[in-house]
Amino acid sequence: MNRIIITGGSGLVGKHLEEILPDALFLSSKDCDLTNIKMVRRIISLYKPDVVIHLAAKVGGIQDNIKYPADYFDDNILINTNTLKVCKEYNIKRFVGILSSCIYPNAADTYPMSEKDLFAGPPTPTNFSYAFAKRCLAVQIDAYNKQFGTKYNYLIPCNLYGEYDNLQDESKMHFITALLHKIKNTDGKKLNLLGTGKPLRQFMYAGDLARIIKEVIDKDITESFNVAPNFNYSINEMAEVALKITDNDYEIVYERPELDGQYRKDISNKKLLEIFPNFKFTELKKGLKRVYDKIS
Ligand code: NAP
Repeated sequence: MNRIIITGGSGLVGKHLEEILPDALFLSSKDCDLTNIKMVRRIISLYKPDVVIHLAAKVGGIQDNIKYPADYFDDNILINTNTLKVCKEYNIKRFVGILSSCIYPNAADTYPMSEKDLFAGPPTPTNFSYAFAKRCLAVQIDAYNKQFGTKYNYLIPCNLYGEYDNLQDESKMHFITALLHKIKNTDGKKLNLLGTGKPLRQFMYAGDLARIIKEVIDKDITESFNVAPNFNYSINEMAEVALKITDNDYEIVYERPELDGQYRKDISNKKLLEIFPNFKFTELKKGLKRVYDKIS
């Protein structure tokens, strides 16, 4: 059996992986600060894993990314470089890095974007330095494979949601949780949302990404590819689905249109479905209901 280390093990995806890989070692920043290479060397040399699944990242909302771009760049470059470099130093067999669809170009000629479009233009200005740091990990992994013959790879998931998101602190919630939290805690007849409701987004249940990661390890898949379902709903459509599954008929009111962010960033799952033709994504309604039921 593979000895597996999961960095970012206390996060949304990490918690889902814990359900299906209970024997792995799950690390939070308290167990090992990955910006400190000595600590990374210590944990890798002590545990001697066969596989490192690298989920850890300094992640934050748009406002925080705009305010602290240097921190997002520095921390993510260090977290990724230290982890990858030490895995190579200790001849770790497999390294799977988790990137994000937000690292793709801000605008593309055609959608959905495929893996070959990753460097076709600059990322969105709102999280430029975070996205660039994550892009660097793709470059680094490909470079290690070329120079050192390693079999490392990366997956690029779309936006995620799930019941292990922060369900209490609104300032830390991802979009879907914030939407469902708002619906559950609205006392009037209106649901106030930011932006215009027009941007298109792909959302995936975080447990689906965890299942793909496990398959990648179990089947020793070394290719790098996007991970996203087929659908690409507008924020407004998403809010309507959420209202429907929660039996609410609030009027949706939009404010502050300048907060829309990127119009669309959908990525292709063609390569994913070539590798895993039978993979079934969790239905949006079912996933939303699961999260809604956990919100107080
Ligand atoms: P998350 O819930 O924000 O968790 C981040 C994890 O990284 C936590 O375990 C955190 O540890 C750890 N971490 C942060 N700084 C660290 C440091 N200096 N040293 C060690 N660990 C550190 O993340 P997630 O949503 O599960 O996302 C997992 C991966 O998927 C990330 O790489 C993210 O970029 C990517 N992704 C996420 C989404 C999404 O919508 N959530 C979408 C696309 C891609 P603590 O708990 O101790 O802080």
